[in-house]
Amino acid sequence: MDIIGFKSFADRTIMDFPEGLCAVVGPNGCGKSNVVDAVRWALGEQSARQLRGQSMEDVIFNGADGRKPAGLAEVNVVFENDGSVTAEPYAGLSEIMVTRRLYRNGDSEYRINKMPCRLKDIQQVLMDTGLGNRAYAIIEQGRVAAFIEAKPIERRLWVEEAAGITRFKNQKKVSLRK
Ligand code: ATP
Ligand code: MG
Repeated sequence: MDIIGFKSFADRTIMDFPEGLCAVVGPNGCGKSNVVDAVRWALGEQSARQLRGQSMEDVIFNGADGRKPAGLAEVNVVFENDGSVTAEPYAGLSEIMVTRRLYRNGDSEYRINKMPCRLKDIQQVLMDTGLGNRAYAIIEQGRVAAFIEAKPIERRLWVEEAAGITRFKNQKKVSLRK
């Protein structure tokens, strides 16, 4: 992951998450949760509240220790495609890079492998990989309790994502609308 101007990461910061167990450690307030927020944001999170902010602009570095606020936030997440990505034209690629940018004037940009795209394209690529928004790749505080307390119909959506059928349900919905 490559972060610039996102939350507490004023300078370009490159993070590697090698295979296996990986832990982010550090004192309170040093930015550990911001790392997870960056991943979630790049993958398309639309709720500022989910990112612990009031408005989306809160993800842009807003100045600290005499440093000026940043004009934009950018996060690039590169992930290995082990075959889970079935959306064309990305299915055969071994690596997929998702980029999200937000400017202070509210303009935002999404890219896949450096090519400008829509949020919808990112959602499409991630669908059924378990990485998508509202999927189960990120289990935050309270999520396990939410799963246990969820209504059966809500719990079923997680199972459907894990089973890889969300994509087909979506396609069905789209064609029924036509
Ligand atoms: P804890 O151990 O308490 O969970 P943490 O390591 O998870 O802490 P974070 O919540 O990731 O810490 O980081 C909080 C820090 O990020 C705060 O110092 C906050 O000021 C800073 N921060 C958040 N948003 C921005 C922003 N837009 N610009 C600059 N700093 C920011
Ligand atoms: Mg934290």
